[in-house]
Amino acid sequence: MSAILHRNLAASLPVAVRGEGAYLFDAKGKKYLDASGGAAVSCLGHSSPRVIEAVHEQIGRMPFAHTSFFTNEPSEELAEMLIVRAPEGFGRGRVSFVGSGSEAMEVALKFARQIQVERGEAERSTFIARRMSYHGNTVGALSVGGHMQRRALYAEMLMPVTHISPCFAYRFKHDDETPEAYGRRVADELEEAILKIGPKKVAAFVAEPVVGATIGCVAAAPGYFKRIREICDRHGVIFIADEVMCGMGRTGSFFAMEQEGVAPDIITTAKGLGAGYQPIAAMLASEKLIETLKAGSGALANGHTYMSHAVACAASVAVIKTMEEDRLIEAVQDKGAELRAALETRFGQHPHVGDIRGRGLFQALEFVEDRTTKRPFSRKWRIAENLKSKLQDRGLIAYPSSGTADGDEGDHLLLAPPYIVTSDD
Ligand code: PLP
Repeated sequence: MSAILHRNLAASLPVAVRGEGAYLFDAKGKKYLDASGGAAVSCLGHSSPRVIEAVHEQIGRMPFAHTSFFTNEPSEELAEMLIVRAPEGFGRGRVSFVGSGSEAMEVALKFARQIQVERGEAERSTFIARRMSYHGNTVGALSVGGHMQRRALYAEMLMPVTHISPCFAYRFKHDDETPEAYGRRVADELEEAILKIGPKKVAAFVAEPVVGATIGCVAAAPGYFKRIREICDRHGVIFIADEVMCGMGRTGSFFAMEQEGVAPDIITTAKGLGAGYQPIAAMLASEKLIETLKAGSGALANGHTYMSHAVACAASVAVIKTMEEDRLIEAVQDKGAELRAALETRFGQHPHVGDIRGRGLFQALEFVEDRTTKRPFSRKWRIAENLKSKLQDRGLIAYPSSGTADGDEGDHLLLAPPYIVTSDD
């Protein structure tokens, strides 16, 4: 019997022993097409030689040096690579590296709070986020998240956060509304919430540019994030874009926010950053925030033992080099269009597929009982969770996002194949 506290004690999972390109193999020799990169992690597949070599090289030379005594070459190089690739208007900010997306969100929330204090606005201690979002499982990240199932057990111990509507046109746009008018309507909820909470009380607003784990690859309506940016600026609220899942080329641009033409104040990113070769996440803070810090205490009031881990950073440097040398982000655009067309052809008219959506190699199917009314199946018949294990039995890994328990939404299957995936795959 396993001594691991698995996600489900009753589950009997195959043992993954080998990876090759877009495929994983279990101990019995069974082959699986990893069509979701786990949870949108393995963006280079499972055997990228340059990343493996970079990890070997760094671990052999110097695996770890504590950040209160030293910096290290891979983390300096990686920070520079990320800052120069940040959306226009972000400026020469700085980057903090940690081990997971949740940790990056904790760093982002605490940094936003710190900056407000350094600005002399210490009463700004609360956050606004969106329903049906996911920002991680640690207490701060869970508090801003809108995944009701995951929050439920811990409700009493979470931070007070105001949740506004997501921008989710398939479900919530009125028929007589243009996408732009819908985007503006839901963005304006942010201003209403700020005014209701009171002036100078809100530290930051948090949103995923393309929502992943809860509602399946939902990009915002045109103009939504421009409006969000204006509102944040008007009220001194820091805008945190959570690109943990949708960043690092996944949607066809290095950061997903590029496609919105908006620079957030803070970006978090993780999964594709280490591509599964190392656990690593980043929080990028804009030049403007760093200027405030410089003029203030000059010190980050938060630290973790494995910050800027040299081996993890070396892996990420090699991930980005591989993406760019092999022109993989451009490939995401073409392959994403091909995947989308294939899904539309195959399932576009399916009576139980209500919507097919996403950007780049980040695509989802939403299942419904009735396409016209968009009525979902009752909970016990949820398709995605059932499909997950049936597909795995047949050698296909796809990621279900099985609901926010915030109404009836939440029956989606997410596809996020590696950028090296081929038409044959
Ligand atoms: N933010 C988003 C948008 C995510 O999708 C996730 C994980 O799925 C997280 C944060 C948390 O990341 P991690 O699971 O690495 O802690």
